[in-house]
Amino acid sequence: MAIDFTFPEEVEDARLLVKKFMQETVQPKMTELRDSKASGDTWRIAIKELRDTARQLGLWNPHMPEEWGGMGLGITAVAAMSAEAVKTPYGPYLINCQAPDEGNMHTMLHFGTEEQKEKWLRPLCEGTARSCFSMTEPEVAGSDPTQIQTSAVKQGDEWVINGHKWFTSGARGADFAIVIAKTDPDAEIAQARNSAFIVPTNTPGFEIVRDVQTMGGGGGHPELRYNDVRVPQENMLGEQGGGHKLGQVRLGPARLAHCMRWIGQIEQALEMLVDRAQKRYSHGSVLSEKQGIQWMMAESALELYSSKLMVLHAAYKIENEMDFRAEVSMAKHHVANTLWKTVDRAVQVHGALGYSNDSPLANMLINARWARIADGSDEVHLMRIADMVIRSYNETGSVNHAVGDLPL
Ligand SMILES: Cc1cc2nc3c(=O)[nH]c(=O)nc-3n(C[C@H](O)[C@H](O)[C@H](O)COP(=O)(O)OP(=O)(O)OC[C@H]3O[C@@H](n4cnc5c(N)ncnc54)[C@H](O)[C@@H]3O)c2cc1C
Repeated sequence: MAIDFTFPEEVEDARLLVKKFMQETVQPKMTELRDSKASGDTWRIAIKELRDTARQLGLWNPHMPEEWGGMGLGITAVAAMSAEAVKTPYGPYLINCQAPDEGNMHTMLHFGTEEQKEKWLRPLCEGTARSCFSMTEPEVAGSDPTQIQTSAVKQGDEWVINGHKWFTSGARGADFAIVIAKTDPDAEIAQARNSAFIVPTNTPGFEIVRDVQTMGGGGGHPELRYNDVRVPQENMLGEQGGGHKLGQVRLGPARLAHCMRWIGQIEQALEMLVDRAQKRYSHGSVLSEKQGIQWMMAESALELYSSKLMVLHAAYKIENEMDFRAEVSMAKHHVANTLWKTVDRAVQVHGALGYSNDSPLANMLINARWARIADGSDEVHLMRIADMVIRSYNETGSVNHAVGDLPL
């Protein structure tokens, strides 16, 4: 029996179409805008036009079913498209599968009522609205959402939300937030204390305190306060006490979607490393002939290859409705670390150029750093993986269930 690692023709066609669009249409436009130091308005108009073109080409919402204006692809195919799209600035946004909207779309599709979907999901799918996901709080460990302090108290038909959040990515300019708040502080199981709410950002009491300045600059990850924010019962997303579960369901595919984008960046960094190493001459030969540099290439290649297999296998498990927790945790940890190491090696081989902003690598390295923290830090994933390995061994006498459940 052979395991088939090829994509069906229509998926491969879609992947190649994204690649062609990004290389032949988007990249030249980006270069032109950058070289001409185009104004913010010119950039905005150009990006809108590129989004329109992507849509006309049928490259829109690859992660959504056709009835929601999507391409109706499975998550394995989405992985292939995302890895291509991310190689170009704004790539995922141009095909409307950027974080955090992409994860929020999945969440609403899964948990939303028909009314919620029409009101909030439809505009996201049409690309006319943006959203954010508001869970992490400065005062308590984001790694342990059972500690969330933001409260939602029922008053008549409304919920009144009070709390303090930060790193609500994309909150500025978003039309609504999915907010995780404590509704059932006395529930016996800590995981049943939180619920999720859809909060329009123009609701009185929704306050953006500041744009948190980060290694990567500012603007993307604001600090927020919810001051007596009132939303109707119909804005509860999922069931009361189901906020923790919703977060976990959201984060499974969303984590994997990050991995898909990171794979594209790892590949890009390795290609830059290989290219530079063959052109730079030092101490009697080009860098690519030095064993120390070859090891960097080889290690990056090994790690990229295993990253791709892990992502494809985790996607396969999600697509086939199998238990995917161990595989997604392993993929998230491995791909995030591979991204960090590979971009760092590429910086090293580029020397001063790699450290400068004349090359995209400096920016890629800064972005790579958060991959090991957000959506579950390295240590939390390792903890979960260890739990699953122990459980698998104790329940079945084998660790196989926690290492992919593969037939070998
Ligand atoms: C760029 C970026 C974007 C983000 N976007 C969003 C967003 O859109 N919405 C949102 O709600 N949040 C977002 N976050 C927040 C992110 O989800 C949290 O940073 C993450 O969950 C970790 O929480 P924390 O920062 O409070 O760190 P903490 O929970 O305080 O953890 C700090 C460190 O402690 C260690 N640690 C924690 N628990 C354990 C453990 N059990 N065992 C061993 N070590 C442990 C880890 O090393 C961890 O990195 C974003 C973060 C970043 C950096």
